[in-house]
Amino acid sequence: MTVDAVVIGAGPNGLVAATLLARAGWSVEVLERREVAGGAIGSETSERGYVHDWGSAFYGLLHTSPVFAELGLDRRVGWAHTGSPIAAAWDPSVPAAVLHRREHDTAAGLGVDGEAWLDLVAWWHRLGSRLFTAMLGPVGAPLPLLKTAARLHGPREALQTARTLLEPVEAFVAHQFATDAGRMLLAGIGTHADVAVDAAGSTPPALLLAMAAQQHGMPVPVGGAGRLAEALVEAAEQAGVVVRTGVDVTRVVVRGGRAVGVVTADGSGLAARRAVVADVAPTILARDLVGEQHLPGEWLASLRRHRYTSGYFRLDVDLDRPAPWADDALTDSVVVHVTGNLDELAMSQAEVRRNRLPSAPQLILGQQDRADPTRVPAGAASLWVECHCPARPSDAGAEAEWAPRFADRILDRLEAHAPDLRSSIVDTTVVTPLGLQDRDPNLVGGDTGGGSSSPDQLLVFRPVAGWSSYRLPVRGLWMCGAASHPGGGVHGMCGRNAARAVLRRAW
Ligand SMILES: Cc1cc2nc3c(=O)[nH]c(=O)nc-3n(C[C@H](O)[C@H](O)[C@H](O)COP(=O)(O)OP(=O)(O)OC[C@H]3O[C@@H](n4cnc5c(N)ncnc54)[C@H](O)[C@@H]3O)c2cc1C
Repeated sequence: MTVDAVVIGAGPNGLVAATLLARAGWSVEVLERREVAGGAIGSETSERGYVHDWGSAFYGLLHTSPVFAELGLDRRVGWAHTGSPIAAAWDPSVPAAVLHRREHDTAAGLGVDGEAWLDLVAWWHRLGSRLFTAMLGPVGAPLPLLKTAARLHGPREALQTARTLLEPVEAFVAHQFATDAGRMLLAGIGTHADVAVDAAGSTPPALLLAMAAQQHGMPVPVGGAGRLAEALVEAAEQAGVVVRTGVDVTRVVVRGGRAVGVVTADGSGLAARRAVVADVAPTILARDLVGEQHLPGEWLASLRRHRYTSGYFRLDVDLDRPAPWADDALTDSVVVHVTGNLDELAMSQAEVRRNRLPSAPQLILGQQDRADPTRVPAGAASLWVECHCPARPSDAGAEAEWAPRFADRILDRLEAHAPDLRSSIVDTTVVTPLGLQDRDPNLVGGDTGGGSSSPDQLLVFRPVAGWSSYRLPVRGLWMCGAASHPGGGVHGMCGRNAARAVLRRAW
């Protein structure tokens, strides 16, 4: 059988690319190795009736993306919120800092830092949101950048903005805010990316995620993240895409220097008339699916420089009642960052970078059921927890030994803010970084973003210097996953940009 395009992998980027190609009139088939489509978007219900998002959980970033409306995700999914999308709890002895739905409430809670927060929000509406939209689009597209430039107050602001984008977030928050409240609220949000608070390039992710949350909240799909995956499949199928699950692609067929189709694990094949589009980590694509003999040595040498970053350690902690937070402000926050102060945060990040288990793990904690009570039995609650963690820590022995000990360390850290939390636990589910990779091979070593988002791996450098246009050095073969520009997160922009490049330049 022959179709115009075969898409390998039904992650959000693969599904977005497939939908846009089909909308342009192409016949498209998506082949997904797992039994369920959605990539790292999915939920599972435990025997006791708790819904766990096994991968991604919060979709503020998606709400800023053009894909959100284009695929009808605003109406295909019920989105749930609380009045406080994000909170920072860095020290149990001081009140948490809270980002509220309304910016003036956030400012009021930040005391002397309130004005500085409102200044950032005003900057976001005038310039920042346009700047980030331009940065999420294809590299080098002139129009969005020109629109951004038109909003700048002259060349000095252009230089200041460029400097801010390169600045370590700890330096940015130190001059933006006078107290730990403002500083930790913004810097804590930056922990969703892998760039350390004291490293160049850590300010953009913190600003983008904070301002997206201030504008759109931290929306979670009613019923679990799996509802979003279903909505992406629904959009694709309505466009005419055929999505097949349980189909593992083992080889991209290259003939005469051109990708002409794929072979699957059961030995059958599917021919592609115009394009093979891979939502697959490029290192795996090159080595296992295409075969290095079909790829130029220089390109392969550059690809070997693509760095994956630390993995995530995941914990679902099911409770028979809401978490006993010492600070009531945390009760209804959808996301709570439990990080320690900036020093502790930097030390913890350094430990992970040096391949050690962090002694004080920086926690990103989700309370999706505060917004969507359908996810837990009546009166109960569940904590979704993740923290940066090496896939194979050098100081900890075998995974079967360190994983339960590390889970205990995480619970100790939580109990500092929620005393006696353990007495309300009915079940705990642990997934290690390698456990994440087992579910989805794109999550190499548990890296959730397709490779580090440090500045040397962004824009024209992603994933291979000079190859940020989704094209690969085999005719007819394209990439569309998180390893390509603009990188990790559920925003669909890698898929959208890739589909547009394929349609423009199919060769
Ligand atoms: C624990 C965790 C928490 C996260 N939290 C958030 C969050 O809150 N918000 C957010 O925006 N982002 C979050 N992310 C990141 C986000 O989920 C990813 O960046 C995003 O899913 C990347 O999408 P993708 O389409 O590029 O790849 P993926 O989602 O990884 O999908 C790739 C798909 O391709 C399939 N595949 C790979 N190889 C083959 C093959 N050979 N044959 C067939 N199929 C194949 C895989 O099975 C998979 O389904 C999180 C990720 C994880 C794991």
